Amino acid sequence: MKKVLVLEDEDNIRSFVVINLKRAGYEIIEASDGEQALAQLRRNPDVKVALLDIMLPGNMDGFEVCRRIRASDSQIGIIMLTARTQEMDKVTGLMTGADDYVTKPFSPAELTARVDALFRRAGGEAFNDSGELVQPPFRLNTRNRTLEKNDQRIKLTQVEYSVIKLFMENPGKALSREEILDAVWGRDYFGEVKIVDVNVRRLRIKIEDDPTNPCYVTTVWGFGYKWGV
Ligand code: CA
Repeated sequence: MKKVLVLEDEDNIRSFVVINLKRAGYEIIEASDGEQALAQLRRNPDVKVALLDIMLPGNMDGFEVCRRIRASDSQIGIIMLTARTQEMDKVTGLMTGADDYVTKPFSPAELTARVDALFRRAGGEAFNDSGELVQPPFRLNTRNRTLEKNDQRIKLTQVEYSVIKLFMENPGKALSREEILDAVWGRDYFGEVKIVDVNVRRLRIKIEDDPTNPCYVTTVWGFGYKWGV
């Protein structure tokens, strides 16, 4: 069963989300505050995607919940539910480890498309790979979806994995932001191209010797990025 956790304190929004995701074939676990959400995840370790509202009652907001989930699970897909006025929250949310965000009010089609995309990435990808991409000091294992740098494991989210895989498959080639967005998020993605920049920034923090002066993922000004090992 495809399980999704929905953390949202406003009953009418949560019902709207739950009804639409059920209609799309998902099993839903509900929570209305952060403590509940973390408890539900402990009880349901097979949850593959979590939707997290940001403004919540109690002493934990959605960012904190996201941070705590990520501290123990790099594989689960996380989508933040943001309000239109919380422009900066999108970036903050992605930097705390979320994979995506949906801005309220959202349509059922948009929401379902985002959840579907994360599910595809979290396990649906076919095992049609030979197994390894090696470009010293990096070694990407495409069977168990892990990255090593100088034989040290680097923990990646599903999205970060997809981004670096794309880079490693295209060494030395300048990739436009749109190209990266299409390849990683899919052509039916509704979001903004800025999500590419945020994920690249996060990836750099994990893989570069000096993230402020990147030498692996370099910027191609006004265009996109290039993998230069
Ligand atoms: Ca709320």
